[in-house]
Order: sequence, then C-alpha cells, then structure tokens
Amino acid sequence: MTPDIRKCAIIGCGNVGATTAYTLMIEQLFSEIVLIDINWKKAAGEAADLNHGLPFISPMNIYAGDYTDLTGASLIILTAGVGQKPGQSRTDLVRANIGVFRSIIRNIIRYNTDAILLIVTNPVDILTYASLKLSGFPPERVIGSGTVLDTARLKYLAGEYLGVDSRNVHTFIIGEHGDSELAVWSSATVSGIPLTDFCKLSYFDCGISKLKEIYNSVKNAAYEIIEAKGATYYAIAESVKRIVTAIVRDEDTILPVSSLISGHYGLKDICIGIPSVVGRSGIKRVLDIPLDTSEAEQLSESAMKLKNIITQIEPDILPIRV
Ligand code: NAD
Repeated sequence: MTPDIRKCAIIGCGNVGATTAYTLMIEQLFSEIVLIDINWKKAAGEAADLNHGLPFISPMNIYAGDYTDLTGASLIILTAGVGQKPGQSRTDLVRANIGVFRSIIRNIIRYNTDAILLIVTNPVDILTYASLKLSGFPPERVIGSGTVLDTARLKYLAGEYLGVDSRNVHTFIIGEHGDSELAVWSSATVSGIPLTDFCKLSYFDCGISKLKEIYNSVKNAAYEIIEAKGATYYAIAESVKRIVTAIVRDEDTILPVSSLISGHYGLKDICIGIPSVVGRSGIKRVLDIPLDTSEAEQLSESAMKLKNIITQIEPDILPIRV
C-alpha cells in the first residue's frame, strides 16, 4: 500500500509527543494526525484540546487511535517511553525503553511496513538502531532525531555570543545525542565567513576555552532544563517539525539525523548523528563532512560508546516476526 503523505501518527503523547502534535498542527503539513498512547485517555485528552484550536487554523483530522489506525500513515513518530529524571543520563534509559519499543514495533509492523519511522525517544541513537533491527525496515526509512536539537542549541548559543541571528551560524553537533557528542568547529561559518575570520573582524574571543564553554552549555542544556522544569519539549518538537518538513516537502535538507552508518568515517553498523540529506524517501545520503584530527577522534570515541551499548542489547533486538 502506498502511504498517504498527508497522514502521520505519533506514538507517545507525553510532553514531547503532545508538543510535537501541536507544532505539526500549526504547520498544517498533514490532514490526518493519529495520536497513540498506552494511556488512551491521555491521547484522547490531547486530541480534544488540539481540536479545539482548529477553528483558528484550518480543518484537519486529529484523533486518539490504536495501532490499526497506523494503516496508510507515511510517517510514524515515536516519542513513547520513559524520560530522563533529574541527574539521569540518556543512556540510563536503555533497558526500560528497549522493552517499550519491542512491543510498539511489533504493533507497527502488523499494520504498516511502508512508513518512515522517526525515533525521538532516548537514548535516541540506540533506539534508532534497535528500531531498525526489530522492524526489518530499510535503513533509509528509520531515522532518529539525532543531534538536530543539539545543533539548534549550538546555533542559538553561538548566535547569542556573536551577536548575530542564530540562522546565520552554520555548524553541527554530531555523534551521540548525549554526553559524548561533539561540536564541529573546524568548518563553522557565520553566513559563509569562516568562524575564526568572523571573530577576528568583530573582535570576539573565539579561543579554545570560549568554544569549549559554548559546547558545554549545549551538552548540559537538557540536564539544566530537566532540573528546572522536569522535561524538555518545545525545541525538540521544533526539531521534529524540521525533519518532518524535509520529508513531506521532499526538500533534500541537510540535517544531523541519526541513521545507519555503513563505512562513513570508518564507522559501521551503528546509528549516530551525522549530517545527511533528508527527503521524501527518508535518508538520501549520509555526508562525509571534513573533520580535523581531534574531531575525528572524538567521533570515533562517541561511536565506540554506542557500539558498547549495542553489543549488550544485541539479544534483545532480534528481528520481530509477526
Ligand atoms: P513523558 O513521560 O511525558 O511521555 C511518554 C509517553 O509515552 C507517556 O504519555 C506514556 O504513557 C507513553 N508510553 C509509555 N509506554 C508506552 C507504550 N508502550 N506505548 C505507547 N505509549 C507509551 O516523556 P516525554 O517528556 O514526552 O519524553 C519522551 C521521550 O522523548 C523520552 O525518552 C525523552 O528522553 C525523549 N526526548 C528526546 C529528545 C531528543 O532530542 N531526541 C528530546 C527531549 C526528550
């Protein structure tokens, strides 16, 4: 069955799922959005609340459903699972969320094997890999939100420091969406001007310690927000909207999403955040962006950390047969 590009599903209607649904409703990318949660009442409440905003937007069909409603959806966004508690790292969530994903993927493949899966639940790189293995979907159709959010945080904080629109800052956070991620400063530009030149001409200190300070603020952002308000959801919902827009509009946008890496940077059989071309068919190309020696080493350490976790969960992510 050819999936309907105007229909999407969100599995998990907590902070992230509900905010994503709101963001997608406002963007009007879909005519049908189905909300699925183990707590059906919560999904129904979110659907009703969203529907009451439709007179200010435009008609669309938003409803709480079950797995049979996945039929025909072109995109399935997974935000279900346990979130980080204050002080917890993303990798602390592995066991609990692999269990949740086993049952969800079993249900997905019963009703839809043609959609693109967009994984948001943490640890996102591990769960993207697990979803790929459990579902047996082709790698281009299993995408994790990767370091899209972290890159937005970097652009925002660097833009604030440099006194420019964050959209003029061009650089990436790559690697694990987590503590081993890295900033690619070596090719950073401000509207095409190499960062070092921009700093010189504007008399900004862009020495190693300043860049490290900005990077640390990015890396610790989630911990600080979770400590302050219990969860993060607005910026991740915008990040998901950005990825979804690239798919629905077949934009071929370069985004640091997580997907299966087969040979790039010497990495193999791992899902990790790397700039990739994203369009209607999902991942169209993974890019080998230039890295300096230190960045290449950090990426390989980040990948090693993920690989160690993958080795431990291998028996739990064997392909599901239905
Ligand atoms: P939440 O606890 O508010 O929501 C989780 C939802 O999942 C709940 O509504 C729960 O009922 C539902 N759920 C649990 N098990 C389920 C199952 N088996 N089937 C269907 N639904 C199920 O959590 P949240 O704050 O929305 O965070 C969700 C996930 O997103 C977490 O793992 C969090 O770490 C992650 N997250 C990722 C990023 C990123 O950049 N990738 C950013 C923020 C949060």
